[in-house]
Amino acid sequence: MNIAIVGSGYVGLVTGACLAELGNRVICADNDSKKIAGLKKGVVPIYEPGLEELIKNNVKKKRLFFSSSIKDAVKESEVIFIAVGTPPQENGETDLTGIENVARNIAINMTGYRLIVEKSTVPVQTCEWVKHTISTYIKHKVKFDVASNPEFLREGSAINDFMHPDRIVFGVESKKAKEILMSLYKPLNAPLVITNIKSAELIKHASNAFLATKISFINAISRICDMVGADVQEVSQGMGLDKRIGQSFLSAGVGYGGSCFPKDLDAFINISDKLGYDFKLLKAVKDINEEQKNFILRKIKDVLWIIKDKTIGVLGLSFKPNTDDIRNAPSLDLIKALQAEGAKIRVYDPQAMEKARDLLKGAKFCKDSYEACSGSDCLLVVTEWREFKELDLVKVKKLLKRPVIIDGRNIYEQALLEKLGFTYLGVGRGNRSE
Ligand code: NAD
Repeated sequence: MNIAIVGSGYVGLVTGACLAELGNRVICADNDSKKIAGLKKGVVPIYEPGLEELIKNNVKKKRLFFSSSIKDAVKESEVIFIAVGTPPQENGETDLTGIENVARNIAINMTGYRLIVEKSTVPVQTCEWVKHTISTYIKHKVKFDVASNPEFLREGSAINDFMHPDRIVFGVESKKAKEILMSLYKPLNAPLVITNIKSAELIKHASNAFLATKISFINAISRICDMVGADVQEVSQGMGLDKRIGQSFLSAGVGYGGSCFPKDLDAFINISDKLGYDFKLLKAVKDINEEQKNFILRKIKDVLWIIKDKTIGVLGLSFKPNTDDIRNAPSLDLIKALQAEGAKIRVYDPQAMEKARDLLKGAKFCKDSYEACSGSDCLLVVTEWREFKELDLVKVKKLLKRPVIIDGRNIYEQALLEKLGFTYLGVGRGNRSE
């Protein structure tokens, strides 16, 4: 098939490269001409394992192209995916100007039948607006369909997630749209959930809200664990082995971040409010997530007492491992709060340093974990990168001014660290701080 992907970010590039790999002819378009110029020269603007190779391979085989002209992309493609950003506004409402802009652009440039697929995460009923916008601005008398096909990939394992999804959801309102999407995704051999458009839109928001709820739930349990001397890891294991509950998204830590959960939760709360439903549960999920950062800060104060003039080594900037994405990363809030109290920060992340440099003025960006430890009064682990789990802890102890580790992701064995002579504070592992 001839496919256009409008919006060449994390989702657009992965979708484009994977659909090209499946044998389609794909144009990835974006209004950021610098990004497109880079992609044409082989510069992939994000770090995502395997993506650069996949792009290179498909460009070479002449299945994947890049363009800053939405017009050309629309003209040449029968199926158009909208994968632009849908950022939050101050009040939590989704900013849909990108979606509207693309819809208008498509309407003006369609020269034959088009299937317009909403891939971006949007509030329920957005597709109705997309359809209305296209009908309003349409230039040539051609037929079109709209569909919703939410994306569930995770940054860090995006290609594998796209190629081997748990399920593919699409919401359609015509037989033709259904057949096109079924045939497009046939090679993936994944379970299909075919619904009406609004259900598909809701499945995405409901899924992310549910996952965020699981995280906040276990974080709330971690608070109780610290108060009574229980271990949240044991509680989580004991709960998660129950198949009805499941182990995933049940790890206590510094709270969720990233470009999706905080934004999607806000958007879901906002649209529910607008529809007249007060989604109190999700408001609590959000509050617990915010509190979790203060909980970590209190742990640091428990050990260091006064933060002013203390040096704190921070391991991890990205909101999770295997990505360079720092959007809404808990690391940023934690570091800024520590700096506001007068701490000096020495930070290291395997991939996210470049993106964070401008946001974290005054922090020392170190060449590796050991340099971040050197001379620090304590070490704070914020992201569970594998290389942090494999550190030489004897060396870490020697480099730190004081052997204190605040393990915001529970990546270390408490007993081992205590045996090595560290003061160890994990999350919900029976340590003080309440
Ligand atoms: P991103 O910011 O990485 O990429 C968005 C791209 O859209 C940018 O390159 C931007 O230049 C481009 N763009 C914006 N407005 C445009 C316009 N009018 N015309 C052409 N291009 C335009 O965002 P992302 O992380 O890829 O997310 C895209 C959507 O997918 C969002 O709705 C997000 O919620 C959703 N989503 C993201 C993930 C994820 O893990 N990142 C997972 C599932 C769903």
